[in-house]
Amino acid sequence: MPKKKLNPKGGEDATSGAGKRRKTNSVDGRTPVASTSKRILSNGDDTVGWICAITTEYVAAQVFLDEKHEGLEYVSPNDYNDYTLGKIGKHNTVIAVLPDGEYGTSPAARVASRMLLSFPNVRIGLMVGIGGGAPSPKHAIRLGDVVVSATRDGKGGIFGYDLGKTIQGQEFQTTAFLNQPPEILRTAMSGLKAQYESEGHQLDEAINNILKKRPRLQKKYKRPNPSSDRLYKSTVVHPANNEASCVAVCGDDPSKLISRPERAEEEDNPTIHYGLIASANQLMKDATVRDKLAAEKDVLCFEMEAAGLMNHFPCLVIRGICDYSDTHKNKDWQGYAAMAAAAYAKDLLCRIPPKRVEAEKRISDIISSG
Ligand SMILES: [Zn+2]
Repeated sequence: MPKKKLNPKGGEDATSGAGKRRKTNSVDGRTPVASTSKRILSNGDDTVGWICAITTEYVAAQVFLDEKHEGLEYVSPNDYNDYTLGKIGKHNTVIAVLPDGEYGTSPAARVASRMLLSFPNVRIGLMVGIGGGAPSPKHAIRLGDVVVSATRDGKGGIFGYDLGKTIQGQEFQTTAFLNQPPEILRTAMSGLKAQYESEGHQLDEAINNILKKRPRLQKKYKRPNPSSDRLYKSTVVHPANNEASCVAVCGDDPSKLISRPERAEEEDNPTIHYGLIASANQLMKDATVRDKLAAEKDVLCFEMEAAGLMNHFPCLVIRGICDYSDTHKNKDWQGYAAMAAAAYAKDLLCRIPPKRVEAEKRISDIISSG
């Protein structure tokens, strides 16, 4: 590896005493943070690694940075990742996105491994973006909600459903298990869960505060009208190759829809759900398979990247729900769902003291020691 400028203490000293430090309010009007406008995150800083799959998620991640750093001193010679650097609360954060038009576990693994080469001090990993929900009688998942990967029955929070056997008439059989998210993230998740349970959350307010400051994002990222959150019965299939909206071709007939009561005032909206996220290289657009995996495995959400990361880039997976993994899948809720996931990720990071992160092993060391 070529020589590079490292600042093993996190680079904080570089600007202290320079008289540039000032107090500002964070982007979403919540945590006040110290901000220095010109400081550049160096590759040697202790860092949170945040991976997104698509541009919509990348934008949502960027707008939650309290401080954006320009430029990058160095990347590994074979690193083609696009990075955005900055700070969330007190955490140096490096955000990367998958190449345009590429989805799935392999591109995700590739982006993560490049990030670890260029940022060897990444100690905390996050995969943040959108996913398809699997609502069930047990989990009243709505569009805009957030699903966080959480260990269940001793298994990691990610279920690779193409790493197994599907035999007619039998339950799906798992043949490979993925690592569970790192303990530091799982304990922060417990802390945040308790905080939300006792005090509620301000995720929607945080998103609105950002959108007020960035009117150009409003159309795509604001919360869509609740009437567009339709959960069709699994027998109602959107006509194949028909791009027309569900209102036009599937309709609002109550006989086709699963009726759900409106959320009460005291219920969190969006709601945060914790549990198993199903991940595979295929797009899930099948309500019957969705319901089968929800019933048999207690799957809450479907996505396409996490299974490529868990054993190479230990991370917590956070997914905003933008559709119901069925044939009615469309993009209307993607912007808001991406914002909700990013808002949750920020709250989670703000629960972790930076000193605690410094004590964590570097992900690159965990991987190389096998
Ligand atoms: Zn439809």
